[in-house]
Amino acid sequence: MRNGEVSYWWQARGIPPRRPSLPGSTEADVCIVGAGYTGLWTAYYLKRADPALRVVVLEASFAGYGASGRNGGWVTAELPGSRARYARHQEGRQGVRELERQLRDTVDEVARVCAAEGIDAGLVKGGTLTVATSAAQDARLRHRLEQERAWGDDAGIVRYLEKTELDGRLRVTGAVGALYSPSCARVQPADLVAGLAEAVDRAGVRLYETTPVTSISAGRARTAAGDVRAPYIVRCTEGYTADIPGQHRTLLPMNSSMIVTRPLGDEAWKSIGWDRFETLSDEAHAYMYAQRTADGRIALGGRGVPYRFGSGVDHDGAIPPSTVAQLGRILRRMFPAATEAGLEHAWCGVLGVPRDWCATVTLDPQTGLGWAGGYTGQGVAASNLAGRTLADLVRHVPSRLTTLPWVGHRSPRWEPEPARWAGVHGLYALYRTADRLESARRSPRTSALARLGDLISGISR
Ligand SMILES: Cc1cc2nc3c(=O)[nH]c(=O)nc-3n(C[C@H](O)[C@H](O)[C@H](O)COP(=O)(O)OP(=O)(O)OC[C@H]3O[C@@H](n4cnc5c(N)ncnc54)[C@H](O)[C@@H]3O)c2cc1C
Repeated sequence: MRNGEVSYWWQARGIPPRRPSLPGSTEADVCIVGAGYTGLWTAYYLKRADPALRVVVLEASFAGYGASGRNGGWVTAELPGSRARYARHQEGRQGVRELERQLRDTVDEVARVCAAEGIDAGLVKGGTLTVATSAAQDARLRHRLEQERAWGDDAGIVRYLEKTELDGRLRVTGAVGALYSPSCARVQPADLVAGLAEAVDRAGVRLYETTPVTSISAGRARTAAGDVRAPYIVRCTEGYTADIPGQHRTLLPMNSSMIVTRPLGDEAWKSIGWDRFETLSDEAHAYMYAQRTADGRIALGGRGVPYRFGSGVDHDGAIPPSTVAQLGRILRRMFPAATEAGLEHAWCGVLGVPRDWCATVTLDPQTGLGWAGGYTGQGVAASNLAGRTLADLVRHVPSRLTTLPWVGHRSPRWEPEPARWAGVHGLYALYRTADRLESARRSPRTSALARLGDLISGISR
């Protein structure tokens, strides 16, 4: 089994030759730091809106090296953060509904651009299933359904599936019911980010790889090779933001780990089902997420080691054997029929978590400095919406996007170490114990330990 080497997605596709690095100091109208989905979508929409704009993207490694080339491949409309917190924005609940509507439309926008630009990322819009495997998880699913209705899902977009209906789609051992939402598509994430980078090249963006930015200030992004001077500098570094001077406590680099099986045989797929390619998660506190891949495998992820001291990041995605074993146990428990296939690859990556778990898209008109991120693990679609919004903000074009409640949202900074490390590790110890307790009993009540965890973390459900 391979471990690290960025991700299975990149190994399956083949890591491309590097684009040139920045040859020396230069000028641009907009300089974007980071070539993941956020930076690339921003560049893409800027150039589409105004082909004359001089857009430079600076990438420390290669386009898609970060979370954008390693994720679970859910193009999900799920809101990155708490409705109640976004509702404190001047647009109130109406603003939250509009943000959720825009996120749902974004799933289709990603599909539209893939078709228009010839990006074959194996996109299938099969919706998403959240299964309950204990009475407490089931009670939380039913509560979530009530919340959906309370926040305006009058049309019943999100539905509860009884076990028999769930089994007709996908058989997960131990599942007692599920929520289904149609607003999610599955992709091969590296194919998406690589195709997007090529579209950005074609649009005339100057994308420089192997060019780490060492500092950002108004009008200037500094690198070892020279400076890029531009009236607008947009930071799109999500889980890697802590390494940028002045940003150490802005976003916590939360780790997420994945495994992928070898291709399953026909018999295994017959017993599992999963013919509609829904993405899948459970309602545990330390939840898992999965997809049936275009090449007939199960890719499954979970938290693993949640956080490295001092906001450290991984080395090319390698994960400890204990995390492989932990994810393997989840796979065998939920899909015994997949056991025989064995594992092909394991890897991890970092996503950005703000202290209040709410994402931000922002541009300061005075300094020209902007950034977007903090999608808390829901960034594949959200980064597209963020990129479109940044393109409007940079061009001073007021739109429905520029008034969404995440625009200009300010999250508090994270605590200094060792409180940060102790807090995150303590939180996941509580969540894992709560999950074990809930699985072992029949009570529909959420464990008090998980409620304590939510209180400490500031997660608002
Ligand atoms: C394992 C995993 C599974 C996930 N699953 C899902 C999922 O299924 N669905 C979902 O919606 N979200 C998921 N996410 C989250 C999602 O992938 C991210 O939110 C999203 O990809 C963020 O995109 P980004 O462009 O903002 O950041 P990234 O993709 O991380 O890109 C940041 C880029 O900035 C570069 N960079 C960093 N520092 C510098 C610097 N100083 N100078 C220049 N460049 C720099 C990095 O090399 C990197 O390429 C997952 C994340 C992980 C890690």
